[in-house]
Amino acid sequence: MIDLRSDTVTVPADGMRKAMARAEVGDDVYGEDPTVNRLQDMVASLLGKRFALFVPSGTMANQLAIRSQTQPGQEIIVESTSHIVRYEQGAAGALAGVQLHWVPGERGIMNAEQVEAAIRPRDPHSIPTALICLENTHNAGGGTIYPLSTIEKIRTVAVRYGIPMHLDGARLMNAVAATTLPPAAYAQHFETVSMCLSKGLGAPVGSLLVSSDQQIIDRARRFRRMYGGAMRQAGILAAAGIYALEHHITRLTEDHTHAKKLARQLQQIPSVQVVPQHVETNIVIFQIADQRRSPAEIVAALKHEGVLINAIGGSSYRAVTHLNVSAKQIDEAGAVFARVLTL
Ligand SMILES: *Cc1c(COP(=O)(O)O)cnc(C)c1O
Repeated sequence: MIDLRSDTVTVPADGMRKAMARAEVGDDVYGEDPTVNRLQDMVASLLGKRFALFVPSGTMANQLAIRSQTQPGQEIIVESTSHIVRYEQGAAGALAGVQLHWVPGERGIMNAEQVEAAIRPRDPHSIPTALICLENTHNAGGGTIYPLSTIEKIRTVAVRYGIPMHLDGARLMNAVAATTLPPAAYAQHFETVSMCLSKGLGAPVGSLLVSSDQQIIDRARRFRRMYGGAMRQAGILAAAGIYALEHHITRLTEDHTHAKKLARQLQQIPSVQVVPQHVETNIVIFQIADQRRSPAEIVAALKHEGVLINAIGGSSYRAVTHLNVSAKQIDEAGAVFARVLTL
């Protein structure tokens, strides 16, 4: 089976499993797991920040960032199709008590004028804007990379209004690998950054919340406990993360090459609509015009031929490349798409 549903489906390689088996561990609630501490130090310094907190999921990292930097009854600015809006089960409302102000981006990318227009005036009637959230790369936008110049312009607005910024950097390392910009070049513009080890980096579990602000990290640690995310001998998982950071960052460009190749193969199929130039990292979003079959039937027909993808609403589909899909399998998948989607 060639599984292109997500880069979360990767399984730990032998070297990673060995590192996990050998990991030195302790009780992380006491701050005594040396492997967790090493991972946190590594990621903090990778992003040019002082502190990092290891958490079970990217969703929790985002939610801790929101909870730690807002008060119930405030509002946060988010892109309309962002992970925080679509895929976190309403946690920002349910757990932090904040209201979401949706801004429609261009393939997930907001511009500074839009963000400024979404900031509420400070008057007796308006809800306070407490946080601005960006997502890089943008998942639903198709793995889009936030241009650094756009981030800088949004940052200028945020500073002018005194509003902190959070980056959902679940796939920040894909942006880093694609642009060769240092991770800190992005991270410097945000009070908090979340980052996933369990996507393209190939670790089984784990994300980090990173910040230079001691108060934010202390609050996030308390809320991590409240949300049930304080783990004990988590060094076994952190060891996988360290292995991923040491071995799986530069190879992300392979996934990007594979995604572009897949897009070019899809472009040859008359029923498929795809813009290969829009494929900037490891995500390919495309449309299939098929009057006869429903999205579920199309997905099932592809699965029958050994290729898994996700239908993401309407006539849109998503394929994601990752370290468990080889160049040869991309060619095989291309042939399956041609066979199944040629009407
Ligand atoms: C995957 C993802 C997350 C976090 O997902 P978890 O499944 O909770 O680890 C957050 N943001 C984006 C953009 C993602 O793609």
